[in-house]
Amino acid sequence: MTDHDRDCLFCSIAAGEIPADIVHQDELVVAFRDVSPKAPTHVLLVPRRHVASAAELSGTDSEMLGRLFSVAAQVARDAGVAEKGYRLVTNVGSGAGQSVFHLHFHLLGGRTLSWPPG
Ligand code: AMP
Repeated sequence: MTDHDRDCLFCSIAAGEIPADIVHQDELVVAFRDVSPKAPTHVLLVPRRHVASAAELSGTDSEMLGRLFSVAAQVARDAGVAEKGYRLVTNVGSGAGQSVFHLHFHLLGGRTLSWPPG
């Protein structure tokens, strides 16, 4: 179910081997607070299965992605940011700012978010 990459930080968090402030977990997806928040609400949503980035996704990942987005919507409602609006973003590759190579979506809210991002 998980195909845990032993060298991957987010695999280790999803497996409960490294502590995190988890706000949701199910058999496909784990959501936890970013350790260095860039907004009052900053939650990371990751699949349990190791996927390096969105560039590695295929059609067989549709169930996991559907879950990830529905969990994001629930997390946003629970955090009280759904009504005003929030951002879901994933960095793909180091040139775009990806620093942890396990697919994750940032859920950012609770402040005005400018567009485009830097
Ligand atoms: P990215 O730069 O898009 O790959 O995002 C990686 C995110 O992971 C950054 O926002 C970091 O602050 C966050 N991060 C790194 N280590 C941890 C950790 N142990 N727990 C929670 N968030 C983390």
